[in-house]
Amino acid sequence: MANVKTYYKSKSGETNLTDNFKVKEFACKDGTDKLLLDMDILPILERFREYVEAPYSPNSAYRTVSHNKKEGGSSNSYHLYGRAFDIPFKSSYKNLTSTDYMCKFFNTLGLKGIIKYPTFVHIDTRTGSKYHANNKKQRLTFGTVNIPFKGNLKNGSKNIYVGIMQFKLKMLGYSVGNADMIFGSNTEKAVRAFQKANNLSVDGICGKNTWAKLF
Ligand SMILES: [Zn+2]
Repeated sequence: MANVKTYYKSKSGETNLTDNFKVKEFACKDGTDKLLLDMDILPILERFREYVEAPYSPNSAYRTVSHNKKEGGSSNSYHLYGRAFDIPFKSSYKNLTSTDYMCKFFNTLGLKGIIKYPTFVHIDTRTGSKYHANNKKQRLTFGTVNIPFKGNLKNGSKNIYVGIMQFKLKMLGYSVGNADMIFGSNTEKAVRAFQKANNLSVDGICGKNTWAKLF
């Protein structure tokens, strides 16, 4: 289930959601005050920024119905619900040197909705079946990249690595709650279940082996 929150640019546009992203960056480009945002995407966007070592803002995130029409979006677009994000490709990015590599990165993190465009990549927080494709609706299979292990994650840990771990577990069908970047008891239960299912030692701590199996 998505964790969609409602914001108003006039009230909280300048509010920092994470170290690098403000509310206003997710607003509709038509100037509408109200916006929707699935908070689960935040650790993904932060980890991407860290990976490419460069700042960026989504080209497009929340869209009103009329703006979505103007942009040629489909009538049931995830952009309408604050659950889709068009991430630009920039030549200043390190490590991910093309939209292909961006797709591999998002695939490794478990995103089920990935659409490759020539100059950006659309990602969304859909659950259920995967839609990995290009802008011509041709289905694609993306490879993976190495997501480095940054240290043990356990009950009480709070960081973006917890967030991407929660997101991946959620996409794999574990009931972890929201990807809120806080390792609590639901997250621990999900880690234990994942470890058990993958013949790892079941300690509820996401260490090197659990991380390697996840990513
Ligand atoms: Zn999009």
